[in-house]
Formats: sequence, C-alpha cells, structure tokens
Amino acid sequence: MVVLILVFSFVYAEIAKTPPSDSAEIYFLDVGQGDAELIQKGDFQILIDGGPSDAVLSELGKVMPLSDRKIDIIILTHPHADHLAGINLILERYGVGVIYSSGVLNTTNGYLEFLNKIKKKNVSFKVPKAYDKIIPFANSELDFLWPGDKYLKQNLSNLNNSSLVTKFCFFSHCALFTGDIEIDEQASMFEYYTQKNLISLFEAELLKIPHHGSRNGTNEKLLKTVVPKYAVIEVGADNKYSHPHTETVSILKKLTIQTLRTDQGGTIKFELTKTGIAKN
Ligand SMILES: [Zn+2]
Repeated sequence: MVVLILVFSFVYAEIAKTPPSDSAEIYFLDVGQGDAELIQKGDFQILIDGGPSDAVLSELGKVMPLSDRKIDIIILTHPHADHLAGINLILERYGVGVIYSSGVLNTTNGYLEFLNKIKKKNVSFKVPKAYDKIIPFANSELDFLWPGDKYLKQNLSNLNNSSLVTKFCFFSHCALFTGDIEIDEQASMFEYYTQKNLISLFEAELLKIPHHGSRNGTNEKLLKTVVPKYAVIEVGADNKYSHPHTETVSILKKLTIQTLRTDQGGTIKFELTKTGIAKN
C-alpha cells in the first residue's frame, strides 16, 4: 500500500510539472532601433513589423522551426523604415500568406519596393476595417482595432499615426500591439471605442509600448485603459533619439508595470497558455 501511494504521488508530481501542450509564444525580436514582434504556434506565424535591417532574419532563424519557410501573416503597422526594411528582406526569403496594412499613401523607395515585391510574389494585401477580427488558429483571435481603412490612399503628415493597432488573444489572454501610434491619435481611437461602449477591448495583459518609448507615445490614459501586467519597449541601445524617454519610464514605474526592454534583454519571449501569459 505504501509503495502504491509513493508511485501515485510520483506520477502525479510528473504530470503537475509537465508544461501544458497547448501554448503559443510571443517574441519581441531584438532588431535594434525598430519593431518586430512574432506570434508563433507550431509552424504558424504572425509577424508584426520587420525592423530596420536584416537583423530580423537571424532572429527568425533562431525561433522558427528550421523547415518552416513560410510566414502566414505579416502586419506592417506603418511604412517607416524601422518597421518596414526587414519585411522587404523577408519577402525575398520566405513565403508569405497575407499582408495587412493601413494602405496609407507613401512614396519612399522602401515602400515602393515593398509594393513591387508583394505584386511579384502575388501575396494577398489587405486593409482591415476597424474592428475586423480573424481567427489565426484554434483558441486565438486577432483584432484589428485601429485605424481601419480611414487612411487608405491618404497623405498623412505624421505616418506614426497611421499605425495599425492590433490585439492578439490566446484563450482570452491578450497582448496589444501599437506600432508607433502617438497620443493624439490614441485619443481619437479611445474616443471612438468609448462612444461604442467598447473601451474595455483595449484591456490586455501585455502591451507593446508605442513608438519605442517616446514621450509622444505613452501617457497615463493609455496605461490605465490597457491595464497591462507587462510592458515591452522595443528600442536600440544608445539610439540617437534617446528612446525610451525618461517620462515614459517613470510613468511605467509609477504605475508599477513590469517593463522589459529589448536593448537590455535582447529578444524577449512570452508564453501564452490557457492559464495566462508568462515571461519566459
Ligand atoms: Zn518606429
């Protein structure tokens, strides 16, 4: 009898420490001064932005399955080089399922090259409407919260404010991705959702801090609307913009939000399961 109990408790302990098999990962890739976030489940990937250089290729190489040469979904938040340049290199090396972007007017060489490559490779290009939703894989949801198609073919003086804001959830544990959207555009976005009584859609356990921690990307309104447990700042070491701004860092500290930075920790990984989001 004693032996049986011992065996049972051993088996039980083994089961208890076995990681749950149904999990997804979010990586904030270390691409220097720029953004690149990867959501992955098995061989399914969603890449949000591609960073400023080929750094994204080596980072993807480290975390994607070796035989997997396709990225299922790419989201270009806005056409600035620190988000776009790496995507142009990815388009040469990987198959791509579909690309989502705001469709804002842009005539830089990098963006024209991007459009050419999409056309040449026959990749589907979509401009989501505000609050479009897709289900990338079982138990997950990707919501396109802003700006919808309001900047399609529009000439915008501040491209940061054309940034696609998206929310990814796995078993209702969510991460909010903000590109470089600035405070003035966030105010319009929050107003729109407040009017619809849907402001709680922005609540997320994990927040990608807008615009590399710049002062024009983060205020208390943002943080008190999202109420994140974790905040991530994607930023290059010793960058010329002095990102992140000391004000951003101190608001995060004041609200006791656990903050991680790619310039300090390199690529940052989170694991999502039925029970929550955990820093890995
Ligand atoms: Zn940027």
